[in-house]
Amino acid sequence: MERLVSTNPATGERLGDVAIATPADVTAAVQRAQEAQKSWGRVPIQERGKRVMRLQGLLSDRCEDLAKKITAESGKTRYESITMELAGLIDLVGYFGRRAHKILAPQDIPLHLFKHRRSYVHYVPRGVVGIISPWNFPFMIPFGEAIMAMLAGNAVVIKPSEITPLIANTIVDMVHEAKLPQDLVQVIHGRGEVGAALIQSDVNYVCFTGSVATGRRVAAACGERLIPCTLELGGKAPAVVCADADLDRTAQALVWGAFANSGQVCASVERVYADQAIHDALLSKVVRLTQRLRQGDPSQLDTDVGAICFDRQISVAQELLADAQENGATIHCGGSQTRSTIGQFFGPTVVSNVTQDMRCMREESFAPIMPIMSVRNETEAIRLANDSQLGLLAYVFTSDKAKGRRIADQIEAGTVMVNDVLVTYGAPETPWMGVKTSGLGRVHSDEGLRDLCQARHVNHDRLFSLPKELWWYPYSEKGYRRALKALRLFFGKRLS
Ligand code: NDP
Repeated sequence: MERLVSTNPATGERLGDVAIATPADVTAAVQRAQEAQKSWGRVPIQERGKRVMRLQGLLSDRCEDLAKKITAESGKTRYESITMELAGLIDLVGYFGRRAHKILAPQDIPLHLFKHRRSYVHYVPRGVVGIISPWNFPFMIPFGEAIMAMLAGNAVVIKPSEITPLIANTIVDMVHEAKLPQDLVQVIHGRGEVGAALIQSDVNYVCFTGSVATGRRVAAACGERLIPCTLELGGKAPAVVCADADLDRTAQALVWGAFANSGQVCASVERVYADQAIHDALLSKVVRLTQRLRQGDPSQLDTDVGAICFDRQISVAQELLADAQENGATIHCGGSQTRSTIGQFFGPTVVSNVTQDMRCMREESFAPIMPIMSVRNETEAIRLANDSQLGLLAYVFTSDKAKGRRIADQIEAGTVMVNDVLVTYGAPETPWMGVKTSGLGRVHSDEGLRDLCQARHVNHDRLFSLPKELWWYPYSEKGYRRALKALRLFFGKRLS
């Protein structure tokens, strides 16, 4: 049986291996999930919330051990494993665990015309949700989505990235420890083919997080089966820095926003448009702060920047920087692979003298690279920020609050933050979604939880039914004239 080997990207140490699921394993896992879902879907939502919330205490008690495991497999610093993977997840369990029954309560729809009838929408579990997840947040993304799917009454089968398979097994262990039903959450391992087989199986919904290219294949496969999916795809987040921005705060935000998790965040600051009036001052502050970052062993608590999880991103970074240099860009710091003998590290890189047509300004690097470009004014900055097929996150820095919102409203992105970066994934009440090719649908927020259910509409009579409705058979000229008169009375020009 073929196995996937997991390696510590910071040390090259072999961490373990897992068996690759065969097509028959995938089918069997989905069948077991269907069985588990039948009774779980009947558990009242408030009770589901109580049971799922047991995970909150377990996650909090175990967070140090979990952080070590996440760091070992992903290369992010232990600080980031706690703050970026675990804190938001632990909060999400409680946030939705306590509120799911209210969010998923049936909703009345007041009817403006058929006053003698009532309508409501109620939310029914979809069945089995397939979660296909990437390597950059190998714990929080699949676990957070699984928690929401369970609260919505579904069972879950997770296909984690082949790069970070081990930590996903911990999710299943914790679900069992919380005494949630056997097979409610399962993990199947493998490469892309296993993800494809999961979609082809009998799952009822797919939550996919990954690249645009794979997202297109996932959407096509779901379309073929006519099942809905959520696609959380790539990003190329622009940061617009106005002349009136607080440059100290802005520089710190940009450095963290570009280099946290070694730039392997879909919301990372991937390009900066700085007003020409402050461009030079901002650039020197950003370079100074970047040069102070301590890169190295991610298991040490005072390491700022850890390892590159997936070695492919090092080649991507090298290609984008070579293109920039060939075309006249200046690299101020970083720019190359560091500690190349053991482990995968890439120095945090600041680039200036860039132009919009360079690859580093157009393609997702998913690596610690921050290109900074001088722009004439905010109109040009907005135009360039929108000159991208990607639209996940965007950032605006200004000390004028009204201007910040005005610019934010004009930027084509699922989320725009003013004077801050990255953190809205940690605010479970807000929607996380991409526009343009950055995605379809959303995770988090009340709507994100409802999307994990099938919304069904019931329309019923109020107190009593009339013997017959006016528009039923038999048709007659009299009835026709009456309908015409009513239409003119209600909607005709004179009245409107
Ligand atoms: P990929 O698209 O390469 O892979 C994502 C997942 O899909 C992996 O589990 C992968 O398996 C699986 N997969 C690959 N091919 C198929 C297929 N044909 N059918 C079904 N599943 C398949 O993305 P990465 O793992 O490289 O993740 C990086 C990308 O994710 C970046 O573009 C990043 O921006 C994006 N991302 C988006 C987020 C968002 O919220 N919008 C959040 C985090 C990341 P395997 O790994 O085994 O190939």
